[in-house]
Amino acid sequence: MGTRAGIVVTGTEVLTGRVADRNGPWLAEQLRLLGVDVGHVVVVGDRPEDLRAALAFLVGTGVGLVITSGGLGPTADDLTAQVVGDVQGRPSAVDTALEQRIAAVVERLMAGRGWRADPEATAAGVRKQARVPAGATVLEPVGTAPGLVVPPEEGSDGPTVLVLPGPPGELQGMWPAAVAAAPVRAALTGAEELRQETVRLWGTLEAQLAVTLREHEDEIAGLEVTTCLREGELEIVTRFPPSAQSAYDRLEAVLAEEYAGTLFSTGPTLDELVARGFADRGWTVATGESCTGGLLAARLTEQPGSSAWVLGGVTAYANAAKEQLLDVPAGVLAEHGAVSSEVAVALAEGARARFGADIGVGITGVAGPGGGTGGKPVGTVHLCVAGPAGPELRALRLPGSRSAVRERTVTRAMHLLRWTLLGGPPA
Ligand code: ATP
Ligand code: MG
Repeated sequence: MGTRAGIVVTGTEVLTGRVADRNGPWLAEQLRLLGVDVGHVVVVGDRPEDLRAALAFLVGTGVGLVITSGGLGPTADDLTAQVVGDVQGRPSAVDTALEQRIAAVVERLMAGRGWRADPEATAAGVRKQARVPAGATVLEPVGTAPGLVVPPEEGSDGPTVLVLPGPPGELQGMWPAAVAAAPVRAALTGAEELRQETVRLWGTLEAQLAVTLREHEDEIAGLEVTTCLREGELEIVTRFPPSAQSAYDRLEAVLAEEYAGTLFSTGPTLDELVARGFADRGWTVATGESCTGGLLAARLTEQPGSSAWVLGGVTAYANAAKEQLLDVPAGVLAEHGAVSSEVAVALAEGARARFGADIGVGITGVAGPGGGTGGKPVGTVHLCVAGPAGPELRALRLPGSRSAVRERTVTRAMHLLRWTLLGGPPA
């Protein structure tokens, strides 16, 4: 792979997990679209020596471009511009024209929010944000902090460092200007398109796939294949330059042949397939959920445009709710218990009838940690998708914690919906 880049994400809040990193993955994906491979995303807290060490590490990997996110604010813990200037051997000085532009932005912001602040403290913050390493290119602020493109020291073959703000909206807003800046363009020259394709299998083990990949090693040379097992789904993501397209086509053909029983997608996610299935068929769905407490309805309605095919759902937790809201017969509840295939069918048919939907989904189970019995241990779930062709049932024994059982149940329900809508490998 040709051009490479490294990323440093700064912020103690990200290091400690209080804020989940949205910048590293986003930047890595943008770079991939430009044909740039990212080897490392390093997260550091707000300590200058740690940032310096992270930059030194990435410089040592020989990348052409390093991108930092965060630490550009007016406060004392915002140190990135200063440290990057030091590392690149470019001392910082206040850019007075920039200082005035930032001051104007800050003034507008404060006035807009009706805030008042000590003018001296504000001016000090603005002056700090207007410090620019010698020879750096300024990227105009999207919030208040400007971004910077800091080239390597004269005569050094080190990387260019692109300094971006931490708030994801600001960072993303600054991205077009950042990639258009001449020194960034220069650092990215020679990058060729890097394609990425995804194949999804349901019910194949990683180890089994590894054997297949080894057997076809020679035919698929030039491809970077990574596999990731998530909730029973094996996601195979392959990256390759356009020159390796035919090798990729061979890989996809091999997978389609050897895993005809489990391959369910050559791109879209499970949830996208389900959404597409409903839209294409013009069918509607309603849910009757007990142990998943509405998680299936939430997952379905996460899809944009789902109002065209989701009619609604009932979280029927108590038996009385199952009877009164979804017409589950009291006799069925008494005879088979709330966690039973009979009740799952009644929930699905009840939701279908009450909402007038083409498809009803019924879910009942023991999510745990308590409530399990010898015959119905924790993880026992009955799932039913009732459609025009009658009810389709699954009796599951799912491992894991309460939240894992609930999540897995919803994923199984999504697969059963996919199968009902689109056919293909069984759920
Ligand atoms: P500011 O002027 O807002 O201080 P900044 O460039 O100094 O901007 P940070 O102080 O690092 O940015 O981060 C400000 C806020 O932006 C964080 O508290 C966090 O909410 C959000 N943020 C920063 N980095 C990330 C990240 N990697 N992923 C998600 N959110 C982030
Ligand atoms: Mg900050």
